[in-house]
Amino acid sequence: MKLLCDEMLKGLARWLRAAGYDVEVAPDGSDDRDLVARARAQGRLFLTRDRRLVDSLPDSHGVLLLECSGGEDCLEEAGRKLGIDWLQAPFSRCLACNTPLQQAGIERWKELPPQARDAATQLRWCPSCDQLFWDGSHMTRMRRRLEGLAKDKKRRP
Ligand SMILES: [Zn+2]
Repeated sequence: MKLLCDEMLKGLARWLRAAGYDVEVAPDGSDDRDLVARARAQGRLFLTRDRRLVDSLPDSHGVLLLECSGGEDCLEEAGRKLGIDWLQAPFSRCLACNTPLQQAGIERWKELPPQARDAATQLRWCPSCDQLFWDGSHMTRMRRRLEGLAKDKKRRP
């Protein structure tokens, strides 16, 4: 499943990426109709909260309207409607740019702050934007949140 989120759904996109999904985010100020066309051409499902846009389309294939008001609601609604597995492949994609991460070479470890270097067991890097990701406290918090989302989903009928 590949997704394109409109710019209002950046927060959702970040969490979906954290879970391992392929999620592009529309650049700020994009034309909505171009986005729909782009999503269809790339085989992506376009997620939007813009009901007016959806109502104005001659056909809404490839478009999913979310009715959430923002934040937490959107995670729940998207999770339910798309059958998201929040623990599909945690932290396998760059949170900033969506590129699949690679194992970082040994020489990159020295770029970590010393404390992080001692505690981390994994270091991945983004070949596109060069950002490093390691299993430090930030990532641990995010992983707990993903586990929480996965649990909430199970609890619901
Ligand atoms: Zn990146």
